[in-house]
Amino acid sequence: MNYVPGDLRDQLAHVGYDVVQAGLVCGSGGNLSARIPDEDAVWVTASGSWLDRLSRTTFVPVRTTDGTPASIGSLPPPRIEPSSELPLHLALYRARPDVNAVVHLHPQTALLLDALGEHIRIVTTDHAFYLRRISTVPFRLPGGTELAALTAAMAADGTDCLVLSRHGCVVLGDSVEIAHKRARNLEEAARLTYQALAAGRLENLRDCPEEFLDRLQGSTAVTV
Ligand SMILES: [Zn+2]
Repeated sequence: MNYVPGDLRDQLAHVGYDVVQAGLVCGSGGNLSARIPDEDAVWVTASGSWLDRLSRTTFVPVRTTDGTPASIGSLPPPRIEPSSELPLHLALYRARPDVNAVVHLHPQTALLLDALGEHIRIVTTDHAFYLRRISTVPFRLPGGTELAALTAAMAADGTDCLVLSRHGCVVLGDSVEIAHKRARNLEEAARLTYQALAAGRLENLRDCPEEFLDRLQGSTAVTV
């Protein structure tokens, strides 16, 4: 394990910096969270945070069960407001006890494909391994409980990658690192799909070979 040492907030700050640097999103296009071990609480980005300028002070601890401010250790609940997408994050943690990190981004290529009515193709073994399958959540107003409930219901079957139509994506993981890798692979798959579309060759873009997909079924031992 050589990801990011230290606090979960440091890991989430790394995700935010990386996805902006890599051109996935503009500076404030999304929000991040992680489940705090042994607590009924998550760290979530504060409202209005720039993703490439996150630090330990730009995360808010909130209770998973009711979304109220949480006290962690000897610290009193902070006075900053959590992200407006807090209901989305909490609904996903409640629906998926196996999930410890939620990355919600507004990735440009995935959204362009959605607006064009195209789905993201699973092209490489990396895409197949990290994404498995991608579901699209029909449009609902951002920040609302309807979007949160619908997305959580669609993730309840174990789907870890969801496109929120005309809005963004939600990527889940049992660790911040896995959710980060899924987010990067989702946008890479979207970019390859778009490049094939722009070249007029989308109908020739073949999916990852069945032989590899078959090995992934029911197995976590496959490596890429
Ligand atoms: Zn959003």
